[in-house]
Amino acid sequence: MQSRPLPSGSTPSPRSRPAVHRRPEQRAAQAALSEAAAGDRSAAVSLAGLLDRLAGYLPEADLQLVRGAYRFADAAHLGQYRASGEPYISHPVAVAEICAEWKLDTPALMAALLHDTAEDKGITQAELIEHFGSTVAMLVDGLTKLDKIRFSNREENQAESFRKMLLAMARDIRVILIKLADRLHNMRTLGAMLQDKRRRIADETMDIYAPIAYRLGLNQVYRELQDLGFQHSHPMRYAVLSQAVRVARGNRRDLVDRILAATTKSLADAGIPAQLHGREKTLYSIYRKMQRKHRSFAHVQDVFGFRVIVPEVLDCYRALGVLHAQYKPMPGKFEDFIAIPKLNGYQSLHTTLIGPTGVPVEFQIRTEAMHRVAESGVAAHWLYKAGESAEAIAQVTTAAWLQSLLDIQNENRDAAEFIETVKVDLAPDAVYVFTPKSRILALPRGATPVDFAYAVHTDLGNQTVAAKVNGELVPLRTELHSGDVVEIVTAPHSRPNPNWLNFVRTGRARSKIRHELKVSQQDESQALGKRLLARALQQMELRLDELDSAQWSRLLHWSGNRTQEDLYADIGMGKRVAEIVAKRVQLQLVAVDPRALDETAGPGSEGHSEGILQLDGSEGASVHYADCCHPIPGDAVLGYLGKGEGLTVHQQDCPQARRLFQKHPRSWIDLSWAPVVGGLYQAGLSVVVSNGKGVLAKLAAAISEHDADIIHVRMDDESLQPTIELRFILAVRDRKHLADVLRAVRAHRFVSRASRTRPRG
Ligand code: MN
Repeated sequence: MQSRPLPSGSTPSPRSRPAVHRRPEQRAAQAALSEAAAGDRSAAVSLAGLLDRLAGYLPEADLQLVRGAYRFADAAHLGQYRASGEPYISHPVAVAEICAEWKLDTPALMAALLHDTAEDKGITQAELIEHFGSTVAMLVDGLTKLDKIRFSNREENQAESFRKMLLAMARDIRVILIKLADRLHNMRTLGAMLQDKRRRIADETMDIYAPIAYRLGLNQVYRELQDLGFQHSHPMRYAVLSQAVRVARGNRRDLVDRILAATTKSLADAGIPAQLHGREKTLYSIYRKMQRKHRSFAHVQDVFGFRVIVPEVLDCYRALGVLHAQYKPMPGKFEDFIAIPKLNGYQSLHTTLIGPTGVPVEFQIRTEAMHRVAESGVAAHWLYKAGESAEAIAQVTTAAWLQSLLDIQNENRDAAEFIETVKVDLAPDAVYVFTPKSRILALPRGATPVDFAYAVHTDLGNQTVAAKVNGELVPLRTELHSGDVVEIVTAPHSRPNPNWLNFVRTGRARSKIRHELKVSQQDESQALGKRLLARALQQMELRLDELDSAQWSRLLHWSGNRTQEDLYADIGMGKRVAEIVAKRVQLQLVAVDPRALDETAGPGSEGHSEGILQLDGSEGASVHYADCCHPIPGDAVLGYLGKGEGLTVHQQDCPQARRLFQKHPRSWIDLSWAPVVGGLYQAGLSVVVSNGKGVLAKLAAAISEHDADIIHVRMDDESLQPTIELRFILAVRDRKHLADVLRAVRAHRFVSRASRTRPRG
């Protein structure tokens, strides 16, 4: 197995300090003292271990910074213990030690030490910036954000999206590396947790973190995470298999030694300076092989292998030749990952040979440089190597790592796919957001709740009236960010708003909105036009359903429409006036010369009083409710038939309507409400409140308790004023409903005035 550092805190003297609350500076001073104190061995020992490791590659000034971060974290976690009973500080120190193995830079090590202070101990971003600068604070903030989101939906494809989301949210590759170190240490110490929690964390590790480690080329971490995940998700299988492997390896010990000796000799004879290591496969990889090939353990024979490390690339192929001359290679088992590297940058020659007793033995052959990448991947490129030889790699950024991978991949025909998978992961054009049921959706950068709604389902998009992001009501044009939980508020009679076309990002939302607007307009205009025509005919004591087909064809010939529906739609949209069409029908019936009447004559003065059009809420997009006065069922209303605009409903005392009436008196029709009216209607509400905390939240709660939706809210940003006015647009059923809401709003003590908004002039 991999070499693991000694678990931190292995010295059996857990410190016990009273958990007395002290002021931060006192705590820091206390921590500084206790660093050297004898009664504080466990943390002090692991800090010493960490500093030893760091002294190998960091200058003294940087060690001071790391010490400072340690003291701060130690003070912050004072009195906090892990499930194992160790002082909590042992965990961040262990995480930093893992980061030190990868030779991460100073800010990353400091962030590793501080990574749980914000989440667990409420240390603020401002405090971190003040003490440690913005880079460290930014890294800690990234880690805190990752901690907040939890993978809880194991359905197909969700894991992949979640991994991308984590990578997208991390922004800086160091955040992911520290997170992996954090997860690795938590997995190593998972035994202290309860079974349920162990299982969940193990599953999450297998689904999310192990593949991320693999993607980043951290193969050693990848294998260890998988093995630990296997151990905790299937403890029985792990125990049985581990016993079987131990026995098998014991039995073959001498065989391994013989192969090692023979191979070392023949490589030396060929003049190849090689290092040979026995290599044991992880239990999880053996388990996977048994599953994949449906075999019992007895049939899985290659439980051990060797690794050959040589100086130059050419030596790899020479060593391969020597090995193939010594033992017979197994057909079909040779793979050249040097010429064609794996997607994560891994390079090696793999071959399986048939050993002395017919046991297959796998060999991996690679150079020192390839080995570093193979074990540490991206971290190998992050090495802090100040003061080393000329070939030392300076700190490189994520972009440089990607570039180096691209260089390896240049000869590879899968380059395009590779760029897709890696580059997109680390610098994605997408944001990843959750549905309330933890499904993950990928949307283009800049996407809004409306894009989200249409991505979930067309019907959801069409009925959207409002959206909540992370529990807060937000405007529909709000830009979404990775990790957001998005909830859509719908109303059954709601329709897409043409304004949405100004801000949606996805082509899907755009085309669905356009389509829906067109279709619903068409349908509803037809229905309205039919009712308008029937009403106009009724005034002449004619009946629409008594028109025969000959009369229809003459009428359509006159109007120039292809079908009855087209004519209805024209009337409904206000392109034709129903009374004129009705007049035409009347003329046809009495066989008057058609030229006697032309459309410019208008509907004339005969009474509008009979056959008033009744609104019942089924009219949809063909009827608009004017924004100036927001009429709702119960209000006295009248309708304006503008050319090509359909019917607009105004309140009778709306000043805007009065002005329009003076201009176009003939375009108006009388309206009334049906006894039963469906749908929701917008109404303005003005509320004056004393300026206090949580006022808006309380009002929103009162409004939604009474079943009304908030479509929009505006507040003057005069936070210094003693009172402020909030202006809501609500969706309500009718005047009675609005009155109920008003009563509930007025019941709050902080509300000094609440009323329906008067029509705007
Ligand atoms: Mn942690």
